[in-house]
Amino acid sequence: MHALLQPAPALFALFGLLFGSFLNVVRLRLPAGESIVHPGSHCPHCQRLLAWWQNLPVLSWILLRGRCHFCRQPISPAYPLMELATAALWACAAAASAHQPAPLAHALAVAVFCWLMLLLAALDWQHLWLPDRITWPAIALGLLWQGLRANLAPAPVSPLVAELLHSSGLQPTLPSALLAATLAALVGAAIVLVIRLTYWLVRRREGMGLGDAKLMAALGAWLGFTAMLDSFLIAVFAASAAALLWMLFGKLRRSATDWAAMPLPLGTFLALAAIAEIFHPGWLLHLWLRFSL
Ligand SMILES: [Zn+2]
Repeated sequence: MHALLQPAPALFALFGLLFGSFLNVVRLRLPAGESIVHPGSHCPHCQRLLAWWQNLPVLSWILLRGRCHFCRQPISPAYPLMELATAALWACAAAASAHQPAPLAHALAVAVFCWLMLLLAALDWQHLWLPDRITWPAIALGLLWQGLRANLAPAPVSPLVAELLHSSGLQPTLPSALLAATLAALVGAAIVLVIRLTYWLVRRREGMGLGDAKLMAALGAWLGFTAMLDSFLIAVFAASAAALLWMLFGKLRRSATDWAAMPLPLGTFLALAAIAEIFHPGWLLHLWLRFSL
């Protein structure tokens, strides 16, 4: 039975390095409208194709001392950092799944989620862009996972959902798990859409993007109500703090009106908060409850 297989953190880290390398390919080629498979990995400066030993995750960057072998142009440390981040999160995904009902399936799902979130965080940071080609599949995969999870083990999605199911006399079965995940996805999108509409009515300007709404829907599907709301609050706090620091230390010349129009990569903050939430669901809410009681 596959469900009984234990995921090994070291093996997950190794695959994390490879998929981190693939993440770099996607985050660079998707905005440029290039194919993800063709041509093979090449230097962005001199376009020369890389030999296998120049294309090893993290290791090649160290061996080449952060420069292209051919043209000696610097290679961004973002490459090895993204690979290391993916590897570390994948190892955590394996370690955190040991006591789950279906450890291997759980570890794989968390790994996929972390990969998608890191990719969206990077794309929004660099291009203020959360592409439909990533957000829609992320929503679909989240719903698929909730359905699969309900089948693998009759565990509720979150304490709040368990409460709702219990009070309505429903069991955490496949249809109810899918219904709960779909509702959480819709609420997530609605939060952003309402804020967006309000902002537009008040300022006649776009506040949050539609990409943020789709990302929130994905978070609802993957994390459930509580953790999705938690991610949103953490992201808004972090983005506000970042904007404040940016205003104080970065661009002092900017006026308050400029600041209101400042494009903030909210998606980056949302995606990173969601990574924290998949490991510790609802931690902000729990912290809040602990201090307010
Ligand atoms: Zn080069």
